Amino acid sequence: MLKKVQDTRDEYVSFIKEIVSIDSQPGDEEAVARRILKELEGIGADETFIDGAGNVVSVLRGEGKGPNLLFTGHMDVVPAGNLENWEGYDPFNATEVDGKIIGRGVCDMKGGLAAQIFAFKAAVEAVKRSGKKLPGELVFCGVVLEEPAEMFGMRYFYRDTMPKHNIAKPDLVFIGEPSMNTLVTGQRGKVELVVKTYGRTAHSSTPQEGINALEMMIPIMDAIFKEEGFDLRTDKGGSKTPITITNCIVRPGGTLSVVPDECEICVDRRYAPGQSLDDLLKEFEDLFEKLKKDNPNFSASVEPRYYDVTAWTGYEEKVPKYHPSWQTDESSEWVTRTVSALKKVGQDPQFGYAVGGTDGGITAAENNIPTMLYSGPEPFSLHKPKEYATIDLMVKNYEGYISIISEFYGIDLAEFDK
Ligand SMILES: [Zn+2]
Repeated sequence: MLKKVQDTRDEYVSFIKEIVSIDSQPGDEEAVARRILKELEGIGADETFIDGAGNVVSVLRGEGKGPNLLFTGHMDVVPAGNLENWEGYDPFNATEVDGKIIGRGVCDMKGGLAAQIFAFKAAVEAVKRSGKKLPGELVFCGVVLEEPAEMFGMRYFYRDTMPKHNIAKPDLVFIGEPSMNTLVTGQRGKVELVVKTYGRTAHSSTPQEGINALEMMIPIMDAIFKEEGFDLRTDKGGSKTPITITNCIVRPGGTLSVVPDECEICVDRRYAPGQSLDDLLKEFEDLFEKLKKDNPNFSASVEPRYYDVTAWTGYEEKVPKYHPSWQTDESSEWVTRTVSALKKVGQDPQFGYAVGGTDGGITAAENNIPTMLYSGPEPFSLHKPKEYATIDLMVKNYEGYISIISEFYGIDLAEFDK
């Protein structure tokens, strides 16, 4: 193990416990953001700050030659749920048992954040010792509100903070989502679609005088449940991407004697890399066209679900409930060099695929930047009671990030071994 990692292991483990012990549910990340800011301030990076959305950013400027790397992850955690299921453990007072840390968020994803932060600190020290700048920029960004509002914090960072602070477009992005030290190179997409049909109200004693919006919805529901007209591809995860309905509302509804003139269903659609949101909307538009031919009264609409999100800084934005699919080319030099960097510290990473959503939707899908998920925690307990992560895996991840820095910025690994 690199001497740098050995020497700072205890400090690293206690930092993980400390940030896990700070409750940081979505919209309430201020305390953990300030603790991370404190960790990064004063170490000698060029700029360390909290942006308008409440993300924590630290920038180590380069000579402008590149490559530019971004280390990122989310600071928010999901609620602990029923405390009885934690069997005596306090989700917000991290406990060490049998080489594991137990606490909400240790796996998803404060363990990964800590590895990135400590490797970033090691890079800053190496730069200070050498007296030379890195060839490219190294940026750490801890984002807010990933869990409920996928990509909110990352979207703000990418669109507003990067240009404002003159941060270069990254060439390669690492997200510290739990991967058990594998390299996750792709992700399934997800969108929540709101499909509405429209009719005309009437007294329900004379329904023939109205147009029942619920009746208009039936052929749409039928098509969804029979999977007709939807390109449900099998993605790298090996299973078919599903489509289903998770809610149905009619308006006016309830006990009124009124034929409803609006019906809304909530469609949960997962999709494979190579499919876009426009493709998915078009599937519905084609279906509507067909139904209109059969019934001139048919009227319907489809759009992604939007909702209002407020960050702890007070910044508000309407965001769509979706994350796009993406796939990073595993034969690209970015990936092969990452693998060889990890081999230098005794790791032999396999490639993985994520069925859930991450901020790679912004970096990989919307901005075409090679992106990988990489962190130590095993992803078996995420969002569950007694969430845990194995310390040795997290220490390996820290060492792996140092080796990645060494590889891409041309710093001799021996620099971290003395
Ligand atoms: Zn996560």
